[in-house]
Amino acid sequence: MARTDIGPPHYQEMLPPVIKENYGKWQYHEILRPGVLKHVSENGVVVFTVRAASPRLVSVDFIRDVADLADKFCGGFLRFTSRHNVEFLLTDEHQVEPLITALAAKGLPVGGTGNSVSNMIHTQGWVHCHTPATDASGIVKAVMDELYEHFVEMKLPAKLRLALACCINMCGAVHCSDIAICGIHRVPPTIDHELFAKVSETPSVVAACPTYAIKPNPKTKSITINEEKCMYCGNCYTMSPAVNIMNPANDGVAIFVGGKVSNSRKPPMFSKLAIPYLPNNPPRWPEVTEAVKNIVHVWATNARPGERVGEWIERVGWERFFKLTGIPFTDKHIDDFTLAPTTFRSTTNFKY
Ligand code: SF4
Ligand code: SF4
Repeated sequence: MARTDIGPPHYQEMLPPVIKENYGKWQYHEILRPGVLKHVSENGVVVFTVRAASPRLVSVDFIRDVADLADKFCGGFLRFTSRHNVEFLLTDEHQVEPLITALAAKGLPVGGTGNSVSNMIHTQGWVHCHTPATDASGIVKAVMDELYEHFVEMKLPAKLRLALACCINMCGAVHCSDIAICGIHRVPPTIDHELFAKVSETPSVVAACPTYAIKPNPKTKSITINEEKCMYCGNCYTMSPAVNIMNPANDGVAIFVGGKVSNSRKPPMFSKLAIPYLPNNPPRWPEVTEAVKNIVHVWATNARPGERVGEWIERVGWERFFKLTGIPFTDKHIDDFTLAPTTFRSTTNFKY
């Protein structure tokens, strides 16, 4: 097969030998302690996985540090999970404790397995994208600092997956996480018409709008935005420097609950809106951390063993969810968007 520089190499090229040799032959696994898994293959081979948190936005120094640990303890192999945990796969049980001690010396906690909070995934934010309505890494750090005990212990009713996407394009896992924070813009973009005529490709800007809210305006050689149709996604802002959606006074975050990918017990579930707006309040986002902690606490207190957030809400009903969490139910929870004929929740009546 011709080699190109397009896309990543095939993942099998990167597998540790023990994983390659036992591919598809794993019989069972158990969790020895928070953050440490033991997988046993039908050949009797045993692999120990040590899962550590990562800061998500990682520096070259961080990569070098974890690569050095992988060289020392597990033949140079490590992997990042889809929620940005770093996993080391060891074949020698006696290396597990020394690795955990070495990780602790670097300030990296081990945990995130079983009934715990896994590392919180977030989108690229200001590092690589220009449409964020909030800071991705700062807010996640503030939330995870508050939930630290739930990463290193496994005392929740079920696993808890958290995510943050810094705008509604949601390249994070907001739709399929138990609790998710989503950056939102709340007012339509402004347009510098004079600049637009000089620097923009009108067809590209018009085509970028998912709700057909933008029309060319031949008179001004610019565009007009139908504000009724705008959902503040920022796509047009991406296409033209003359369009601006940033609005520090109005931008903030919304909180969604009840999503999951797993199909155990119930099929995968989409998350739904719980809190329509909380302000950006850096550097520690106290309103957001309190809101997340409250939902975690109410779920942990009321859910049955094994019940994910969405499954618990489905059992007790959304009305009771709002009552127990003390979150006000407002008109913003009713999806009356112009182009949403089949809505997630379009009425104030609840089903039991
Ligand atoms: Fe950019 Fe939005 Fe993705 Fe954040 S969620 S990285 S702002 S597209
Ligand atoms: Fe369309 Fe999104 Fe721009 Fe609004 S912000 S006009 S929905 S592209």
